[in-house]
Amino acid sequence: MAEIFGTWIDFHTDLRKDDRFNVIYEAIYEEGNPVRAGRILAAEFINQGKRHAVVLYRGASGKEQYYSDDGRSLRQGFLRSPLEFSRVSSSFGRRLHPIHRSWRNHNGTDFAAPTGTPIKATSDGTVEFVGTQRGFGNLIVLRHRNGITTHYAHLNGFARGLSKGQAISQGDMIGYVGCTGWCTGPHLHYEVHINKVPKDPMSVALPMADALSPKELVAFQRDTAPLRERFALLNYELASAK
Ligand SMILES: [Zn+2]
Repeated sequence: MAEIFGTWIDFHTDLRKDDRFNVIYEAIYEEGNPVRAGRILAAEFINQGKRHAVVLYRGASGKEQYYSDDGRSLRQGFLRSPLEFSRVSSSFGRRLHPIHRSWRNHNGTDFAAPTGTPIKATSDGTVEFVGTQRGFGNLIVLRHRNGITTHYAHLNGFARGLSKGQAISQGDMIGYVGCTGWCTGPHLHYEVHINKVPKDPMSVALPMADALSPKELVAFQRDTAPLRERFALLNYELASAK
């Protein structure tokens, strides 16, 4: 669930009381006895009053993927956070710099995490820079579509063999949290740039992947209708039980 909804929800910082979810999943039976849970076929998550819903669907590529229920593939969206579990130790915006002791812009989000914590690429892309850069210490820059780059700084080390020009998939482990460069304690400094302008990683509206073609969308809506109806039924029952 955390992986599927990672495009929208950071499960460490975004969960609130009264959030809830529904899941439709396969149950595997052997001789009439349930033996294990299978794939998640559809799920909806109401987070801070906002509903997110996904369905598993076999698109034109022939590969099963999760789509938002309006037919956008989630695979090429962006994860909100490059670390699985962490806390934001410094937000985007003006702040008193901990080393330089002067007010300046903090162009990213800091995630506090122990040295060595694996860092995930937040979206598909290619490696634009891997190396050392003054204050950033060990730095990785990934280039994505639509003029977006993501930057991962102060790393302890890089994933083995990571090199410029290499193709990266969302969720790939690219490096490890550290404290190289101008740094006062192990954390990941994470930046998102759109057309070279730094944006707040925690609030910027990041693009979702391409929608299905109009023809595919018709098939998608037809094929996934039963799943969506089941959610409607679940929510109806929930509301009438109150
Ligand atoms: Zn920072």
